[in-house]
Amino acid sequence: MKVLVVNCGSSSLKYQLFDMTDETVLAKGLVERIGIEGSVLTHQPGEGDKVKIEADIQNHGIAIKMVFDALTNKEHGVIENIQEIAAVGHRVAHGGEKLTQSVLVTPETLQLMEDCFEMAPLHNPPNVLGIKACAELMPGVPQVGVFDTAFHQTMPQKAFMYGLPYEAYEKYQIRRYGFHGTSHKYVAQCVADMMGKNLEDLKIVTCHLGNGSSIAAVKNGQCVDTSMGFTPLEGLVMGTRCGDVDPAILPYLMKKENMSVEEIDAYINKQSGVYGVSGVSSDFRDIEGAAAEGNAQAQLALDMFAYRVQKYIGAYVAAMNGVDAIVFTAGLGENGISMRAKIASELGYLGTTLCEKRNDVRGKAREISTEGSAVKLFVIPTNEELMIARDTKVLCAK
Ligand code: AMP
Repeated sequence: MKVLVVNCGSSSLKYQLFDMTDETVLAKGLVERIGIEGSVLTHQPGEGDKVKIEADIQNHGIAIKMVFDALTNKEHGVIENIQEIAAVGHRVAHGGEKLTQSVLVTPETLQLMEDCFEMAPLHNPPNVLGIKACAELMPGVPQVGVFDTAFHQTMPQKAFMYGLPYEAYEKYQIRRYGFHGTSHKYVAQCVADMMGKNLEDLKIVTCHLGNGSSIAAVKNGQCVDTSMGFTPLEGLVMGTRCGDVDPAILPYLMKKENMSVEEIDAYINKQSGVYGVSGVSSDFRDIEGAAAEGNAQAQLALDMFAYRVQKYIGAYVAAMNGVDAIVFTAGLGENGISMRAKIASELGYLGTTLCEKRNDVRGKAREISTEGSAVKLFVIPTNEELMIARDTKVLCAK
């Protein structure tokens, strides 16, 4: 069974074609600058060389059509024709409270995705565009929506509510939703497999540390708390997002700097985080480089990032009344050797010891704690696309 996984952004489209008999990636690629001058598709068949195809790609429908052409191309294609694709899995950012697990796309479930547009205005509209474009080009082929929020829907109400008037929840569904759910779920399952235990018997803190970062408490296979909230802004200090701040700061700044709603939104989403603190970059490699050269603000940004992660780990150990394993994933979690060491340096109270030698790893699944460590530490490369393909296969086989 061949499954196409599609992840549509406002001006981009990522795809991977899986052969689900052995979960191999037959091809993958990326369309960039959709609707903008200079659009380009980069396609990679299996382990083969990347091919760049420049074209005027005005919308997501044309982008999908180009992906189909690339997949069936005589030279760099990997299938004979599009009918070989048995199903399509789509990453959808927000599923709200009603889409608590992956679903087959029907007029009803599509409407529920559209109902979340206001809560994820940058993500859900292009996600739905991708679904509609595929439906038009391959009628009758089942499509599945996989939601970033779904895994977190098991949080108890005491964890997902804010201390706002209850009517804010009733009227506007203002509550914690959490994001990166597919990634948290994937790495939690991998940890259980690597420990040779059932996920249902474990307490795991999953740290998805990338440009956007979040942490989740996964108890007996279910998410009981997570650091991102109503939007992906809450929680950790991120690349350009501020994470937790005193909410009173926002009206204060708006008054002082005469800022509009749009301006304060850009300030906390795009100009803050380790970028805003360091004044250097949102990329941890640049910040580490600057800190090594003596840049005090860059060092402060690294210290703040690590400290916030340590605090959340502590909070989630408390939320679960214990912990068996802590796992690092995503760009920084998988590759940031020194950041992992920095975070782990203050986890000794848990009986955790990082093995420096094992921690010398990038982008590979590995236990990085010492042999006798009471709480195990892991690095696991996330694979959201594979999770989407697996859910798609399961739902389409029903
Ligand atoms: P992601 O959003 O998951 O793609 O992660 C992107 C982030 O990972 C970048 O902003 C980098 O800061 C970080 N990153 C990637 N490679 C490294 C590395 N070798 N060392 C430190 N940070 C890294």
